[in-house]
Amino acid sequence: MKVLGLDIGGTYIKTGIIDETGRVYETGEIPTNAHLGGQVLMNRILEIIGEYKDKDVNLIGISTAGQVDVKTGSIIHATDNIPGWTGMEIKRIIEEKFNIPTWVENDVNAAALGEAVFGAAKGEKSFLCVTYGTGIGGAIVENGEIYRGAYGSAGEFGHIITHVGGRACTCGGNGCYEAYASVTALINDVMKQTGMTGITGRDVFRIMEEGNRDVQKIIDNWLDEVLAGLVSLIHIFNPSCIVLGGGVMNQDYSIEYIRSNIKSRIMQNYRKVAVKKALLGNHAGLLGAAFIALKASGVIEI
Ligand SMILES: [Zn+2]
Repeated sequence: MKVLGLDIGGTYIKTGIIDETGRVYETGEIPTNAHLGGQVLMNRILEIIGEYKDKDVNLIGISTAGQVDVKTGSIIHATDNIPGWTGMEIKRIIEEKFNIPTWVENDVNAAALGEAVFGAAKGEKSFLCVTYGTGIGGAIVENGEIYRGAYGSAGEFGHIITHVGGRACTCGGNGCYEAYASVTALINDVMKQTGMTGITGRDVFRIMEEGNRDVQKIIDNWLDEVLAGLVSLIHIFNPSCIVLGGGVMNQDYSIEYIRSNIKSRIMQNYRKVAVKKALLGNHAGLLGAAFIALKASGVIEI
């Protein structure tokens, strides 16, 4: 069984063919050009599928930024990162053109399912994924399924309020978790307190490793913000495992700090929780999208 996977992010569209064992091959990556808008993006997706069509693709699985109606395979809401993506009927458009069964899922949920089946959370049935980047994304996996809530939008961990009356957030609220614990927040803290400019998350850790104690202190404070959210999530969900994603969690310093501090900050009966790094990196979304297609077709189970 061959699934064509597409992972549509704000910066790149990643593609690949995935089989039921989780092998990914014939991969590709092209810029999303999100600023050109949803219609241009949809046409590009159709072109890509056309290019893969001769490779005997049985199913299509799509992971995309934005809130997704998984029943209709359309976008309920996307931010202005991809203008005009809201309302796009991805599944209908693809199935009408190519007659290949297609499934669409939100990118954070897809990555969580990818980790559940093929990666860090293999064998776990109930766990959380938290991804740290520009914002903070979350997914709740309960008994092998994404927990969606009443209207499909559960798991917005980035907008838990951790500071009443605190920093303004992109959601329009104040004091949200991601205004303090995202990579954007870390970079802003470092730039504000040191006067450095034009740095990335990777630069911040490199500067600390070069011996900059001020930057280390800023990172420690940021990790305490990260921990504050995780502690709340653990107390709400009592998960067996939390999978942490995003490049900053590939830094040994981050994951070690979180592991060595988390147990003392949660109540004793919650301490069995395992803190794991996401394993699949760039392929998590593709693998999750492929899993959804394979599961819906009855080929594999979690
Ligand atoms: Zn917010």
